[in-house]
Amino acid sequence: MVTNNAPRHIGVIGAGVIGVCTALALQRDGHRVTIVDRLPPGEGTSKGNAAIIAAAACEPVALPGILKKVPGMLMDPLGPLAIRWQYLPQIAPWLLKFVAASRPDRVEKLSIALRALSLQSLSSYKTLLKEAGLSDMLRELGWLSIYRTEKSFRSADDELALQRRRGVKMEILKRHELRQFEPTLAPDFEYGVLFPENAQVVNNFRLVQELARFFVQRGGRILQAEVTGFAMGPQGPTHIRTRDGEHAIDGVVVAGGAWSKPLTRMLGHSVPLDTERGYHVMLPDPGVMPRLPVHIADYGFVATPLEHGLRLAGTVELGGVKAPPNYARADILLTRGRTVFPGLRDGGRTNWMGHRPSVPDSVPVISGGRHPNCFFAYGHGHLGLTYGAITGRLIADLVAGRETGLDMAPYRVDRRW
Ligand SMILES: Cc1cc2nc3c(=O)[nH]c(=O)nc-3n(C[C@H](O)[C@H](O)[C@H](O)COP(=O)(O)OP(=O)(O)OC[C@H]3O[C@@H](n4cnc5c(N)ncnc54)[C@H](O)[C@@H]3O)c2cc1C
Repeated sequence: MVTNNAPRHIGVIGAGVIGVCTALALQRDGHRVTIVDRLPPGEGTSKGNAAIIAAAACEPVALPGILKKVPGMLMDPLGPLAIRWQYLPQIAPWLLKFVAASRPDRVEKLSIALRALSLQSLSSYKTLLKEAGLSDMLRELGWLSIYRTEKSFRSADDELALQRRRGVKMEILKRHELRQFEPTLAPDFEYGVLFPENAQVVNNFRLVQELARFFVQRGGRILQAEVTGFAMGPQGPTHIRTRDGEHAIDGVVVAGGAWSKPLTRMLGHSVPLDTERGYHVMLPDPGVMPRLPVHIADYGFVATPLEHGLRLAGTVELGGVKAPPNYARADILLTRGRTVFPGLRDGGRTNWMGHRPSVPDSVPVISGGRHPNCFFAYGHGHLGLTYGAITGRLIADLVAGRETGLDMAPYRVDRRW
């Protein structure tokens, strides 16, 4: 491996949690860094997630048996999965790859790749937040998955077994223990699983904004502009093209979340990136507040206590990046939330929809590319906040030509999809 620590001017496309963490890691290595985004920092998908640093995460979304479960989920109008049928022809190739990724032997390998990132997710944030003076944004109380019935708990057997094989710590709580542990919950939940490794931030949007401010304080530049392409030289891109003009760079990192596919294609790679749209409902005065994040496994969403209220976030809608939000999906979160937290109040409620950048095998792209000065950091799906700091660190290592300490093959942009 050839190391190259010479300071360069690196353009990072995307000011979401991935782009900002990557820009900070590059800056720490002495590079001059410019972030380019059409939106202000954190205004993309990173604005409204469930704020969880899921250090225990290791399971891809497509698990064995997914194909059997999907029709039931789609038939249920309050279910966790929806599809915009007019989008089906466009997403069909992605869905085929998604189903292929659910084969047990592949899931085993994918979970190893995810766990390798997860194990460093929290420690990487601790380093970053300490440096930025933001350590008080982190809460380390774990998270609680809850199951309404014995049947729904048993249906998670294979997933929990996979997590145990990857060394994930967990503690099973039965109904009476659950009530003592989290008294805000409705009394009819049969089981809970506490994952002590997981953490949260108290405000995921403010986190990205504060990190971006820190980046600027340390001399970084943020340019608000739409990237339309690149000017190419013999070694790769020499300029980032925006609607307002061309900007000279020595290297580029594509961290454009769900919108990264066309930029990647311009740099010589084809990636099956699509989006799993998700929703949240923010309740500033909820009346009940769990003391730690609660994942309601039966309904596929998370309730997270934040510094400005309670957030119910989750669900998956396959519908691409262009279709307008369908806030009936957010109403479902509130309807379900009321059955979990009796007495939940919705005064001052706001809704939000965001685009998870999703690849079919759930393993993010963290990779160099065909040109020696191009790097890719996207496709983090349900785990983009979790993997923000570690992704930044890994991309900085790749740019410097340093050993990352991980086998990077599973994250490559040109892997077999
Ligand atoms: C409901 C929901 C709940 C979630 N909960 C969690 C959670 O609890 N924990 C967790 O780890 N993850 C969670 N996620 C996932 C997480 O939010 C995403 O994976 C993460 O935000 C992706 O970050 P990003 O920086 O890649 O993308 P983004 O935040 O979307 O940033 C990408 C940026 O690139 C810019 N961009 C793209 N193309 C261009 C262009 N051509 N020109 C200029 N700018 C461009 C966009 O404007 C955007 O600002 C959740 C997601 C949803 C939807």
